[in-house]
Amino acid sequence: MKVLKFGGTSVGSAESIRNVREIINSQKGRKIVVVSAMSGVTNQLLEISEVYNYGKEDKGQGLMLELKLKHLQLIEELIENKETKKVTRNLFHELYHQLEETLKTKPFYEAEVITFGESFLSLIFSQYLEEQGVSNTLLDAKDFMHVSNVENPEIQTVQKLLKSTLEREVTSEVYVTQGFIRIDRNKNISTLKRGGSDYTATIIGAAVNATEVQIWTDIDGFHNNDPRFVENTTALTSLTFEEAAELAYFGAKILHPQTVSPVKEKGIPIYLKNTFTPNAPGTCISDEHHTIGLKAISAKDGITAIKIKSNRMLMAHGFLKKIFDVFDKHETAIDMITTSEIAISLTIDDARNLDKILSELDEYGEITVDSDHSIICVVGEGVINDHETFRLFELLNDLPVRMISYGGSSNNISLLVDTTNKVQALKLLHQKLFEVKILNAT
Ligand code: ASP
Ligand code: MG
Repeated sequence: MKVLKFGGTSVGSAESIRNVREIINSQKGRKIVVVSAMSGVTNQLLEISEVYNYGKEDKGQGLMLELKLKHLQLIEELIENKETKKVTRNLFHELYHQLEETLKTKPFYEAEVITFGESFLSLIFSQYLEEQGVSNTLLDAKDFMHVSNVENPEIQTVQKLLKSTLEREVTSEVYVTQGFIRIDRNKNISTLKRGGSDYTATIIGAAVNATEVQIWTDIDGFHNNDPRFVENTTALTSLTFEEAAELAYFGAKILHPQTVSPVKEKGIPIYLKNTFTPNAPGTCISDEHHTIGLKAISAKDGITAIKIKSNRMLMAHGFLKKIFDVFDKHETAIDMITTSEIAISLTIDDARNLDKILSELDEYGEITVDSDHSIICVVGEGVINDHETFRLFELLNDLPVRMISYGGSSNNISLLVDTTNKVQALKLLHQKLFEVKILNAT
């Protein structure tokens, strides 16, 4: 069994959905196809949910109409057969009506509203495939994506539920289901967080012991730097699970940050492919080490740095524990840490409980907070042993770096800069680490 996931732009228009059909057709064997919502739809649903929550139903109705027309137009463009078109339209209207009913219940869960994008698209997509002669079964992700803890999904639970679902539907070679949706601990509809369809694909992949998971997007895999800010980046053909996890966590937008974890233990490879250039190699993420050393750079914004300076730390023990306990109490994860004899600097990316944290830290020393920072992450298996890496420190000559974390893992070096310097830092690092390397090699 293979798992294939198609995201926003891959399923953003009738034309790209036709591409997707060809990709599915060109691969033999049983497969589960995970689709997200059409591009833009989850944002539209978020807005709808907000507008209805504030009781602005007039505005809401306008937005709902827009959403309905978008999907009806897709059905119109995609499905040729008159009868199938009618059936699909009716099924869509039923679902749409369910959404209207959900919006009438007060209060409603936002997650219940925003996951309709996936339900709409999977329905239309499944009907379209059937019409095109790709016999398939539409599975309701709510039947098996029972994930109580997003950070640490229990694969066995999904496995058990999915197994019985698949046993009921053994006749199919192709299954279609929705990404993003999960059922939480209280049996309510919830999500795997924005971009979570990638994560659905690997959770399912682990649950069915898939031979591989393919994630189809609109770029040709991971790049060695952020192509939105830096010119002449190149696609990477292979990454290890650890490298991909670091890059996804530290800002590479191509993959939901948790995608790698469910399949890593089982060694199931993930292929990142471009729907629009299906023959390009893309990136293979697996446990194979193809090259050692420097591989890629990424950046994550929205970082807050906190410095606690205290003479009480001098030659004392237990100080760090007390500091960490404060963050633990407020369920806030720490990303980077550096310490000196009398100060500790650390970063967080979730500042929701910052005020509470700061008021509790106050008794431990003098606190400085810097918001709007970015972590720049330099990644590669054994990067700290790669002698080319020393050039990274030349960056200190060119712009201010607030913190550096080196040696925490041999795969990652992190630098903290003010977000206003992020693009320049990415560009300079690209020159120093990749372009100089190429010059040396020629
Ligand atoms: N549709 C959801 C989102 O926009 C999930 C996904 O695309 O992966 O976040
Ligand atoms: Mg995505």
